[in-house]
Amino acid sequence: MRIILHIDMDAFFASIEERENAGLKGRPIVVGADPKGGRGRGVVSTASYAARKFGIRSALPISQAWKLCPSPQCAYLPVDGKLYGIVSERVMKIIEQYAEAELPSRRKLSFPALIEQTSIDEAYIEVMNQESGIMNHERVWDEAVLLARTIKKTILKQERLTCSVGIGPNKLIAKIASDFKKPDGLTVVRLEKVREFLDPMAVRKLPGIGPKTEAQLAKRGIITVRDLWLASDPESDLGRLACGVDASSVKEEYAIKSLGHETTFEHDVRDHALLTKTILALVEEVFEEVKAGHFAFRTITVRVRFDNFETHTSTRTLSEFCKDDTILKREVLRLIFPYFHKKRLIRLIGVRVSNFKERR
Ligand SMILES: [Mg+2]
Repeated sequence: MRIILHIDMDAFFASIEERENAGLKGRPIVVGADPKGGRGRGVVSTASYAARKFGIRSALPISQAWKLCPSPQCAYLPVDGKLYGIVSERVMKIIEQYAEAELPSRRKLSFPALIEQTSIDEAYIEVMNQESGIMNHERVWDEAVLLARTIKKTILKQERLTCSVGIGPNKLIAKIASDFKKPDGLTVVRLEKVREFLDPMAVRKLPGIGPKTEAQLAKRGIITVRDLWLASDPESDLGRLACGVDASSVKEEYAIKSLGHETTFEHDVRDHALLTKTILALVEEVFEEVKAGHFAFRTITVRVRFDNFETHTSTRTLSEFCKDDTILKREVLRLIFPYFHKKRLIRLIGVRVSNFKERR
């Protein structure tokens, strides 16, 4: 028996911008690439809930977002990674403070909690696991709900931001539950209610099912999770997903799996100096976040997309964990230079580090 919480900040980047600027309150806000009056390239990073009413979503091309809701009706803002990183650290500290220490009125959690931060604005907390024995489950479910309420209240009070929390018997259900009543939601799905909770849901709501799989399933008449459950082998990946089964554990180490930045050029580029300058600026942004998170990394990946959308990645794993930006710069240049010599126009470049050593 396990009890896991998934905490997910609501429209994180857009909500921070809204908080920082009174004039943006309640307005459609898009954080992402420069829209250039509708001719911009690159994508939406985060859209506020007011912007989502126009159909604007994360990863939508910024030019399409502009068509749906142009400026000045919608505020278009660049990604302020440094600010979001600082806010993220403060939010994660609040989560740690309650999950590791105590609940209000000095009530302690029955079991020490495990925390896994999975992105800049998401974390899992495991408040009870199989090894905890079969003590009073009811009490631990109550504690989980109290913990969720306390964290939500504190984040709202201290950071003026809302989050949504899902509580379930595993990470998969907790994640689906946190997305269920966004924004400012709290959804509890106990083991015996999993079937009832998943059945009417569109298959797309299951993590890992993208538009392609959704379309393939729809051709077979599979629309809801119940359809998928009835149609699939319970031992297959899809079958397990449809059953809401997930045995993966909450790991405190490798909290964030990777950190990266990429940029889409205004005009396709083949100028060696400009490409080098751009990739080094991206390396610096990534390194700022690595430093802020007290990480050491081993794997470095570069990504290059040519003007015809052909995309390449090159990866190098170092023999030791690294915290040094000179090594990072050297390795990134080594990985990316072969692409700069191809005399081809480049549309996008990016860099990512991963394979982290635990925090601090
Ligand atoms: Mg979020």
